[in-house]
Amino acid sequence: LIAEAGLYTASDQIIILSPKNVDSVLFNSTAAVLVEFYATWCGHCVAFSPTWKNLARDIKEWKPAVDLAAIDCADESNRKVCTNFGITGFPSLKFFPAYSSSESRGLELRGFPRDVRGLRHYIIDKLEMHNEAWPPACPPLETASEAEIDNFFQTNNVKLLALVFESKDSYVGREVTLDLLQYENIAVRRVLDTETSLVSRFGVTDFPSCYLYNSSRHISRLKVLNEARTFYSYALQRLPGVVRTGKPQIPITDLLKNSTLQEWRQFNKTSVYMSDLESALHYSLRVELSGHISISGNDLTALKKYINVLAKYFPGRPSVKSALKTVDSWLQQQKGTEIKYSNFRDVLDNTVQTSDAVLPEGVQWVGCQGSQSHYRGYPCAFWTLFHVLTVQAKEMAIPGTFNMHSEVLQAMRGYVSSFFGCRPCATHFESMAQESMDHVTTLSAAVLWLWSRHNRVNNRLAGDLSEDPHFPKIQWPSPELCPSCHGLKKTGEHHWDQGEVLTFLRNYFSSTHILMDYLQ
Ligand code: FAD
Repeated sequence: LIAEAGLYTASDQIIILSPKNVDSVLFNSTAAVLVEFYATWCGHCVAFSPTWKNLARDIKEWKPAVDLAAIDCADESNRKVCTNFGITGFPSLKFFPAYSSSESRGLELRGFPRDVRGLRHYIIDKLEMHNEAWPPACPPLETASEAEIDNFFQTNNVKLLALVFESKDSYVGREVTLDLLQYENIAVRRVLDTETSLVSRFGVTDFPSCYLYNSSRHISRLKVLNEARTFYSYALQRLPGVVRTGKPQIPITDLLKNSTLQEWRQFNKTSVYMSDLESALHYSLRVELSGHISISGNDLTALKKYINVLAKYFPGRPSVKSALKTVDSWLQQQKGTEIKYSNFRDVLDNTVQTSDAVLPEGVQWVGCQGSQSHYRGYPCAFWTLFHVLTVQAKEMAIPGTFNMHSEVLQAMRGYVSSFFGCRPCATHFESMAQESMDHVTTLSAAVLWLWSRHNRVNNRLAGDLSEDPHFPKIQWPSPELCPSCHGLKKTGEHHWDQGEVLTFLRNYFSSTHILMDYLQ
């Protein structure tokens, strides 16, 4: 659950320090820790907090080697900790190397950069200052020589070596090394452009560029859209055989043989299936809601809004649309403060027998199938449903007329808050909604808001226990799925082209592209 503490919450992936945990986090830790000491009332701290949060998302994969923390020195109960560390101004950053002793006061970072890229480079510089007590999870960051590379497969138990050729002052190689530290069967090393013998052996012409080398001494260049950190990391993390540490590497067919799952339904990984959307409706309306015997107050308002956006925008089969419209008009007529779920259910199940209005019973996941029954399914289809609805609201808008731009998002927010069974999910979603949902002022912005918040959730959950090893959480869509969505800033930082992303989403989630296979 979210521990509310000043400017940060637990969902920001920043360790929130307090007198209780400060010693265990900072001292004798296997990871280095960079701490921000701030005060909630300090304007500079407020201005800096989005950068600190973005940095935490950006270097999430580095956590076993270096983690971020923050402490609110304006909180009375933290005052002593901040005084002990000699903090007098805010924000202050201190670096605690791995295995710092309890005497350590940390290394004060004066005049630190105020942007994610600068801070990331700073962290690498500080990591490299470790000598004896190198963080065990941190791979070597120094440059590789020809001799090392020649002996690499004799001395390392990996199948693949990725070599980033670059100039001395480039950080790309070290960033990619750290981005891959939680992955198995691959190692990443940087090679300088001055290693002329290696450069000519690999036929390197561009700096940076990335080459793959295996134990059979086969060399191939990594094909990427742009020669930059994010593109290398994206590509390397998803090479065949490369898996996140601790995740099984079993072909899907073997997994399924041993499971009690129904027969695997072949599907196109890049399409939306109506069967998932109808299954989400079934599960939400007949299973999730049925836990509420009577529904009143904010919950009733949330239900009415949810059903109303479904009735307006669900691009379903005529019979399903008709069922949703029937339920919607019934709900709108309920003027009391409470309804019984059983009455709602009677209308949904069409006890009145208006023949052509039916929502099929049961779930049949297709694009949302998991490799095991506890993976994917409902939450996957729930996200998909709302992406489709935000896109439909945009497509169906009549130009020049007033549109409730965040109507679909608010309906999702209400439903998640009142009914979504995963309560920690609801808490996290609500904190994102509070932060920025009110800033959505167009229907396009609503489509993009949901996309970017879904990516935040993906970032937080990457590597989590709930991640299906066959469907890793990525920043979506990948460069292969939408090349034009990805670009580079002048600094070499990855950049989402939001115009292109919007075009892509409107096409991907469009009603005309939904596949009707496997429908009951
Ligand atoms: P999902 O993340 O469910 O995505 C479904 C499909 O949508 C993907 O297969 C892909 O085709 C597409 N997609 C992926 N990213 C995007 C994007 N950015 N924009 C548009 N489409 C995209 N689980 C937790 O463990 N902790 C949580 O806090 C949590 N919070 C949640 C909050 C909400 C509101 C919801 C609906 C779910 C939440 N979940 C949470 C569940 C989690 O997000 C996943 O839904 C679940 O783990 C299944 O993941 P998946 O691999 O099927 O992909």
